[in-house]
Amino acid sequence: MIKEGGENMKGLHILTFILLVVGGLNWLLVGLFAWDIGEIFGGQSAMISRVVYVLVGIAAILELFTHKSACKQCDKM
Ligand SMILES: [Zn+2]
Repeated sequence: MIKEGGENMKGLHILTFILLVVGGLNWLLVGLFAWDIGEIFGGQSAMISRVVYVLVGIAAILELFTHKSACKQCDKM
C-alpha cells in the first residue's frame, strides 16, 4: 500500500473521507432509528465499536488539518 508520498496522501485522503462518511451516516441512523453501527459489533461499549468511533474521530482531526490543502473550493478563498 505504501508507495511514494503522493500515493500515500491520496490513500489517507480517501480513507479519511470514507471514515467521515461512515461517521456522518452513523449519526443519521442514530437520529432516525436510534440505532448505530456499533450494534453490529456488540454495542457502543464493545471494543471494535470504540475502535471505529476513535478512527472516525481521528479522521475528523486529520480533515481539520488537511482539508484546506486538499479542497478546490477552500483553495480559492
Ligand atoms: Zn473545502
